[in-house]
Amino acid sequence: MNQLPTSSDRWQSTLHWQPTDDQQERFQTLYDAILLANQQVNLTRITSPADFWEKHLWDSLQGVAPWLREAGASAPGLRVVDIGTGGGFPGLPVALVFPHWAIALLDATRKKLAALETVCERVGIDNVSFLPQRAEQVAHQPLHREAYDLALLRAVGPVNTCAEYALPLLKLGGQAVLYRGQWTAAEEAGLTAILQRLGGQLSEVRSQVTPLTQGVRHNVVLTKAERTPDQFPRLPGIPAKTPLV
Ligand code: SAH
Repeated sequence: MNQLPTSSDRWQSTLHWQPTDDQQERFQTLYDAILLANQQVNLTRITSPADFWEKHLWDSLQGVAPWLREAGASAPGLRVVDIGTGGGFPGLPVALVFPHWAIALLDATRKKLAALETVCERVGIDNVSFLPQRAEQVAHQPLHREAYDLALLRAVGPVNTCAEYALPLLKLGGQAVLYRGQWTAAEEAGLTAILQRLGGQLSEVRSQVTPLTQGVRHNVVLTKAERTPDQFPRLPGIPAKTPLV
């Protein structure tokens, strides 16, 4: 069995938080279950213990660092959507650490979500639901439109595409965390130019360095300030093919 790194110092020094022994054990169970599922369905190419720890576990959780620090019995339960969850990131580590949050894992690839259902059964993650559809379709369904407190998106496309997927799903005052690598002034200018049309505003850009390989990460945080006009998101495929400018 491949053992994940267990150093709590690395969590503490970077995120000012550390997993409990129980969470640490469940990270290992999650890793084992993903590797097993990965033999049937292509969920991830990141499989070595150190890479999985840094690029999946640590990275998924660094995006929600502000909530980690206030996680406690009294913190409110959030309704969260992980748009384009793929192999379950960032949604699954987040679900594991925040059992009082309800996390919808959304992905257009039904096969991946079916594999994630098996993973969740193995790990005993029961605060997730599965939406095997395109974000552009889900966002027009009354059950989901303007229904989420928090949207998470990692590696789903250009930032303006991500904003068009996420903002229609957020409640007023809700936030989207866009997980990015490098972040340029040009991207920021392009994003701020279109946010108002979607009812969003740019709240914060946080940067982090990954603890094992010193990679650059940015979290771009959007807040839903006004209702998103019904025309957004545009028809399936359009936000990716022709991002708003
Ligand atoms: N978030 C994961 C996976 C990234 S790969 C990670 O960071 O590891 C991108 C995933 O987004 C793929 O699984 C793809 O099926 C999904 N995806 C891309 N566009 C989508 C859309 N419009 N609606 C739903 N899922 C989408």
